Amino acid sequence: MKTIKVYNPSTGSLIDECADMTESEVKTAIERTVNAFPSWSGKLALERSALLRKWHDLVKADKEVFARLMTEENGKCLAESRAEIDYGLGFIEWYAEEGKRVYGDTIPTHDPNGAVIVTKEPIGPTASITPWNFPFMMITRKIATALAAGCTMIIKPAEDTPLTAIKLLEYARTAGIPEGVFELVTGDPKMIGSLFTADPNIRKISFTGSTQIGKLLVEQSAKTLKKLTMELGGNAPFLIFDDANIENAVKGLVSAKLRNSGQVCISPNRIYVQDTCFDQVVGLLIDAVSKIEVGDGLRDEFVVGPLINQKALDKVLKLVNTTVEKGGKVQLGGKIHDQGGLFYEPTIITDLTDDMEIHNVEIFGPVFAIYSFTTEEEAIARANDTEYGLVSYAYTENLGRAFRLSRQIQSGMVILNSGSVGTASVPFGGVKESGYGREGSYYGIEEYVEVKYTLFSGL
Ligand code: ADP
Repeated sequence: MKTIKVYNPSTGSLIDECADMTESEVKTAIERTVNAFPSWSGKLALERSALLRKWHDLVKADKEVFARLMTEENGKCLAESRAEIDYGLGFIEWYAEEGKRVYGDTIPTHDPNGAVIVTKEPIGPTASITPWNFPFMMITRKIATALAAGCTMIIKPAEDTPLTAIKLLEYARTAGIPEGVFELVTGDPKMIGSLFTADPNIRKISFTGSTQIGKLLVEQSAKTLKKLTMELGGNAPFLIFDDANIENAVKGLVSAKLRNSGQVCISPNRIYVQDTCFDQVVGLLIDAVSKIEVGDGLRDEFVVGPLINQKALDKVLKLVNTTVEKGGKVQLGGKIHDQGGLFYEPTIITDLTDDMEIHNVEIFGPVFAIYSFTTEEEAIARANDTEYGLVSYAYTENLGRAFRLSRQIQSGMVILNSGSVGTASVPFGGVKESGYGREGSYYGIEEYVEVKYTLFSGL
């Protein structure tokens, strides 16, 4: 049997391997997902909820097992893995409840002898493809929503981090979530993506990953006209105004930026600081970041981990070098960390302009790219000057300005005076080329149901 090897990015050592499935194995798993739909969708919402709850409780009881595995395969430190598990379990808990509240409607009739009702029905068998940066939460967020709505789902996790997903599946089976209801395949992404999108019985795909692959899946899904949720790339602006609480702004920035070594689609990518507080912010930022350690995350305190693989490291190296050649000034870091391997130094760069490559691409590394601005109008225009629109952050103590930012910034999420975005109760998602559809909150479950109108005439 062919396998995919999974390596620890902190040490380079082999952790485990998983199946490199053939086309016919993937097709069989899709069939199971399709065949399980009638009985799963026919269950009471309460019954589905009880199974999700059981899964939640079993995983929670073994939180440390999941945390260690995730740190090993992804490189994020244990503190981050534990936080991700809490975040991810939150989706199972939330949707175990939300599934009970997929309410319909009645509409005043247009027919004198009729009645009109609107019901919401599970869309059908679904599929999803997830990235490596949140190996736990990405799985639970999609599966729990689909299953709670009455859909079945087949998942393809990322090749770099399939082990957490496989363990989640194991626990789901122990909890009594049957074969077919939650299926998992590993193997060639292109082959699996083609099979998912070509199958007319798969009625929806939820994808989180790059805009490039997202567009490809949209194109492929057009043939069978699937419903899609696309959580794609970002180019998040992080605005700091001189009326902000500057210390809080720097704290929020550091925690948002260094999460998962900067390899997050909502990571602050373009940091715009008002010129009147620029030196103060940069000074505080250098102080804060230079105290942060880098290394293997299998210990209790926060530490910046490695990049996921060599390709990711090469991309960051090249991007920083090009930026420096074009006039960017490195204030801190700027190179591979002394311990080598896939570790990159947390880096701060200033003297940047909006025409540089670093301004227009997702950095996906622990690099703070800092720009200066003068007026609010200018800051908003520059924040919006991107094809992406996932999240935007801003720090200001001025209430009027906060409202203007909330209204005028073009992104699916606007986070004011905080560096923290996601939790189960809020709608996560983007606009423009960051995609469409929302995950989390009651909006999330709407993505997995179809609205059906029935007219009862001749009454
Ligand atoms: P990233 O840069 O975060 O790795 P990708 O979009 O390449 O983003 O990967 C996200 C997910 O998409 C992963 O699970 C990956 O295996 C999958 N993927 C990559 N190429 C394809 C493809 N051609 N079709 C379907 N899925 C793909």
